Amino acid sequence: MAPEPAVQLPSVAASHPMNSARLLFQLVSLESPAESDQGWDSIIHRKVMRRLMLALQYRDPALVRHSRQVAGLAVGVAEQLGWDGQQLHILEAASLLHDIGKIGIPDIILFKPGQLASEEVELMGLRYRITSDVLQACRADRQVVEIITQSQHHYNESANELGVEMLQGARILAVADAYESLVNRQSYRDANSHVQAMDILARGAGSRFDGNVISALGHWFESNPGAEKQTSQPQQYALSHEELLEAGTLSHAFSYLYLVESLYHGFHITDAELRPLVWNTGCERLTGVPWKQALNTPRITDIVEYRDRYGEPLSLADRPVLLAAETGQALTTELQIHTADGRWLPVEVQTMPITDLNGLVLGFAEIYRDHSLESKTGEYRDLKLMARRDALTHVANRGELEDQLKRYFQEYVASAHKTPFSVIFLDVDHFKKTNDTFGHAAGDEVLISLARLLQNETYSGELVARFGGEEFVILCPETKLDDAWKRAERLRLAISRARVVNSNEFTITASFGVAEVEPTDEASTVIERADKALYMSKHGGRNKSSKLTSAQQKAADSTLVTPPEDAADAFIFRHKLRACIAADMIVYKLSAFVDAQGAKLGKVSKELVTMKVGHRGLVPFWGAAPNRQPLNVTLEIGDERSVLERGASKLVEIGVTMTPLGWCRKSVVFQKRARGLLKELREYLAADHDDDEIV
Ligand code: GH3
Ligand code: MG
Ligand code: MG
Repeated sequence: MAPEPAVQLPSVAASHPMNSARLLFQLVSLESPAESDQGWDSIIHRKVMRRLMLALQYRDPALVRHSRQVAGLAVGVAEQLGWDGQQLHILEAASLLHDIGKIGIPDIILFKPGQLASEEVELMGLRYRITSDVLQACRADRQVVEIITQSQHHYNESANELGVEMLQGARILAVADAYESLVNRQSYRDANSHVQAMDILARGAGSRFDGNVISALGHWFESNPGAEKQTSQPQQYALSHEELLEAGTLSHAFSYLYLVESLYHGFHITDAELRPLVWNTGCERLTGVPWKQALNTPRITDIVEYRDRYGEPLSLADRPVLLAAETGQALTTELQIHTADGRWLPVEVQTMPITDLNGLVLGFAEIYRDHSLESKTGEYRDLKLMARRDALTHVANRGELEDQLKRYFQEYVASAHKTPFSVIFLDVDHFKKTNDTFGHAAGDEVLISLARLLQNETYSGELVARFGGEEFVILCPETKLDDAWKRAERLRLAISRARVVNSNEFTITASFGVAEVEPTDEASTVIERADKALYMSKHGGRNKSSKLTSAQQKAADSTLVTPPEDAADAFIFRHKLRACIAADMIVYKLSAFVDAQGAKLGKVSKELVTMKVGHRGLVPFWGAAPNRQPLNVTLEIGDERSVLERGASKLVEIGVTMTPLGWCRKSVVFQKRARGLLKELREYLAADHDDDEIV
């Protein structure tokens, strides 16, 4: 592309980030392509392309460099596959524009070092929708939009997700994009070599990627020796004052789209003559009308069928967009729209005229809110957020830890055990005493500050999680045992030097255990070994870090001293219940208990019932909450006896035996859990407390 002179945008100075209509105008005001049917201008207007690339550079120059590299590769691969002419231009444009959705991603996510949390990934996932919205708005060639939006799909799943075969352009873009990301350093990992990158791609052939395209990429590199070593520096084009302002305004418009896409269930934009310009994915889902069909419809009023809130047909004159056109005012209406599956769905529609600075109407935007979805998605999001973080310290919770550990482990196995990760386990020393001396609230504060300290002191990419109580785990990707031990020592010193200040001032220490994943490991055994190492530190006098290999573990197992309170029979709970119930009713009553506990039944007969109660996580240790303290429960059901004198017709003796499932370290904790479960069992069986007898 030839360089263009700086372009002027009339409303730059006046636009406020929250003035949504103006921001939408920014998009609509991107000019339409010229009429020539060949070359760039028929694909996307040069000025539009330039504005978008400037905005991309404004956000992150590395994104422009990445897009150029991807475009070069994609075109090279396409030529290998026999493409030429206008199709090549379309693919090149799609490659250059594939990341423009990132223009509106907040900095904290775009530049986040380390892995993204699931909600952040969700927001990032919206970028393909934003790209589609923007490219529709600036009237880019539809194939460009299709190539980009399809490229996000896995090759082998695309047929299901798209309902059509994935365009070859999308398959090429997906491979070129992946290769380029792999050979460059990312905030969460180092750069891969060319050979490594090709190897990773080859492993995804047939599933994530199209194998033919990967072969073509290989051939292209063969016929262009040295191409894999070329890395261009981010081109730092100095933006003029106007360009800076314009890029900033476009970025606002993009972030506004993220807001609309994540808060509302659909939106569309028309020009002043009501010709559809943008029809987003939400509208596709609500109405079942694909965007290409919508954009081919002469007037927006011909696409969606409306009824009023009471289900009566809505006359054309009463359509909100026509009311907005008549009055020049925005309005909100409760309506019903006809959905893809033939239902009438109540929605709230916001209709806004889009005007320029002089009040001239350029078009209309309509935003839909589906009330039936709203509460559910809201709750669902909250639940998902809560489900991943510890309520007190806000670091990852045990569930998130287990998920991440599983991922680390799968990657370790997939990389043929090449890149080990390590686990650091730590436990605050004599924390009970801290609680006893300064109070539980002070104890809580200690945990919060400790979590913050850990998070500040760890590298990006490492995961800090609360394992339970005063125990934390840190997952260190691509870290060998000795390095992880050094990290632990650094953390240990930092903790011992920190002063906890509330109404008192005191210090705390913690003990550490470190283990590195080894080929004989399973995900859970790495953590177990780190915990064993932690025990060594505790036994060695606390405020220490110990490391342990699996070879050393065996030796250590025999030398570890078991505390006397944890004698073997302290982990068996036996009890005898007398239930006022007929024997043949017991299994029936028990099934309600099994349901309520989410228990897994083992053996079931008239005399014996065994079950597993509670959730057994990936790692076998008991957690702090009862449902994380799984138990083996055995019920031995005796013969029924008639006991007339007590007013109960039948009485059955039930022998209850419980043992911990998984690894419970403290018999007190186990006994408490077992007593708790017994109480619940008693309620289901209507057993008489007074008759209980501890065996
Ligand atoms: P050790 O050095 O052997 O680890 O001794 P300790 O006292 O730290 O270990 P122990 O496991 O006996 O006690 C842990 C204490 O942590 C008991 C429990 O009351 C306290 N604790 C667990 N969770 C919390 C919490 O969320 N807040 C507060 N304040 N205390 C907690
Ligand atoms: Mg503890
Ligand atoms: Mg402790």
